[in-house]
This record gives sequence, C-alpha cells and structure tokens, in this order.
Amino acid sequence: MGTPGINKPFSPPRRPSSADLPANWRPPRPRRDWTPTLVFLAAISVLVGWWRFKGFDAGPARTLKNNSAASARINPSSLIIPQAPSAEDSSPSTVRAREITSQDIDKPGDPYLEDEYRKISEQYYGNKLPNVPVLWEDRLQVIGPLIADGFIEKGLWTSQDNKEFILLNPSISPDAADTRRVLCHEIVHEYMYSIGNKNEGHGPRFQAELLRLSRAGAFEGIPAADGEKASLKAWIESESARLEQESRQLENEKPELEQSRTAVESEAADLNQQVRELNERISSANSQQGGGPSDAEISAANARRRAHAQKAADFDAHLADFNARIQNYNAAVGEFNRAVGRYNLMIAYPDGLDEENALHPKAPAQQ
Ligand SMILES: [Zn+2]
Repeated sequence: MGTPGINKPFSPPRRPSSADLPANWRPPRPRRDWTPTLVFLAAISVLVGWWRFKGFDAGPARTLKNNSAASARINPSSLIIPQAPSAEDSSPSTVRAREITSQDIDKPGDPYLEDEYRKISEQYYGNKLPNVPVLWEDRLQVIGPLIADGFIEKGLWTSQDNKEFILLNPSISPDAADTRRVLCHEIVHEYMYSIGNKNEGHGPRFQAELLRLSRAGAFEGIPAADGEKASLKAWIESESARLEQESRQLENEKPELEQSRTAVESEAADLNQQVRELNERISSANSQQGGGPSDAEISAANARRRAHAQKAADFDAHLADFNARIQNYNAAVGEFNRAVGRYNLMIAYPDGLDEENALHPKAPAQQ
C-alpha cells in the first residue's frame, strides 16, 4: 500500500527520521507503472495515423484533371456562296460571307496554300484543275457563329463575277491535316464547278468525289457509312451524358470528403492534446508520488483512440474508393475523347452544312 500509484489517493511520502533509519535503508522504489508507456504508444499511433492520413491529402486533386480534348467541337462542313443568290438567300451568315468574298476578289493567293493546291491538282486531277487563288481569310471567324453557336467556318469556296477562289480560316493553320482536309473539300467544290455541276452543293456527286480523294489518300479521314456515323454519334451523346452525371456526382462528394478529412484531422489533434496532458499529469504524479489520472480516464482515452483509428481507416477506405472512381472516370473520358476524334475524322467527309449534326462540347471535369 505504501507504493505511490497514479490511480490511488495520494498519501504523503513516508520520510523516516534519521533516528530510526536503519543503516541499509533506501527509499522504496516505486513499482514500475506502465500507463505512461501505453499512453505514449497511443500518442505515437495517433501521430502515425495522422501523418499517414495527411499523405492522402493530395490524392483527389492530383487525379481529377480537366480534359480539354473533350471539348473538341465537331465542325463538319463549310459554306458555299451561290453565284447568283436568290432573294430568300439572306441569312446573316450568307450576307456577311458575300460581303467578305466580294472584297477578296482579285486578292493574290497565299504561296503555301497555292502550292498545296497545285500539288493536289497534279497528283489527283492530272493537273487539270483551274488555277484559282487560295487565301487565308481571318474574317471567316465571324461567319461560323452566325451559322450556329460555336460553329467554326473553316473554309469557303466561291465564284463571283466568274472568278472562283477559296478562302481558309487561319485558325486551322496550326493543324496541317485539318488544313489539308478543308482544302480538299473546297477543291472538290471547284472541281464540281469546273466540270459543270454548278449546283451540286454537297450532293451525291460531291460526296463521291470526296470519297475518291480520301481513298486515294489525299487527306486523312475515316470513310464511314451513315449508319456507322449515327451509331457512333449516339454512343458519344449517351456517354457524354453519363460522364457528366458521374462528374457532377464526384464533384458533389468532394465537400463531404473534405469535411471528413477535416474532422478526422481535428480529432487527431484533439486526441494528441489529450494524450500530452495525460502524460504530463502522469509524469508529475510519478514525481510527486500521486495525483495522476484515474483508470477510467485512461481507458476512456484509449477507447477514444481506438474509435479514432476506426474512423481514420473508414476515411482511408472511402478516399481509396473515391480515387478509384476518379481513375475510372478519367479512363472513360480518354475513351470518349478518342471516339470524338474518330467521329471528327468520319465527318471530315463533310455532309454539307449541317450544324444540326454538330456535337456540343461536354463540360470538362473541374478540380
Ligand atoms: Zn462545302
């Protein structure tokens, strides 16, 4: 009973007087008390849990990336300006295009584009295509939006005052393959016109000629039957909707996850504080031989530590699941983008001015 214990009511230490002190007397050695060690271990495990937990912090932000490629707009076609516009042909885009083209008559062609034109004529038309100027025309950029929201007018063939010429939108110039595709498209208009199919537009003969050029390798594109295009487009649209829903759901879950993270972190900090205090009380009780925390306090702290460990483990599992879903989502976006790219190449066979077919961009996933 003389042993000071942290859980016992403290009694003043017995200090024998020198009178009754036996020669070999030594102050009684307190029994080793393991509680500080246990609490210290608990503190370490909380700290370890907390740091391990901190390590996950960067996870979601790192993996949920924007994917700008998903926003690729599909722009299948270009505009033809009729030589003799009819009275009802007064859409804003046509009016604006006519205005621009009338100012471009007699302008010299761009040397690079004309060289490309000549090469195509030589290789695919036995050099029989009429020489027509091919120009970059910056103002084509204002025509697209007049046709449809987000539409890009990439190229334009026209014939005015018996002078034919081709205008290309400089925004496509960084993409050589696209430039080549658009040029081939406009060349087919020129070819149709030169052989007397003056009102062919994007009709079957136009399509057949474009297909011939493509099969001959004049430009990069994927020949596809209408049914194939339609089914790919349907898949893209439904996948786009699914991805948007998943993206929204992931976004919605983020705050909740952040909240759990904050809660677990602050509980870990609390617990560490409590453990520090307990340890201080224990060590001062040991040095003063009493007055430490009760068994009940110690076991409550240990219970709290165990509950915290469980919460941290639950959070880890939740976070791992969330990250796995983000990975799946990103993989699906990659596949979606490849399909959009394929579709873009398929409709590089312009079916004519068909803004109804333009697929609208999917909102990219936000971090
Ligand atoms: Zn066209």
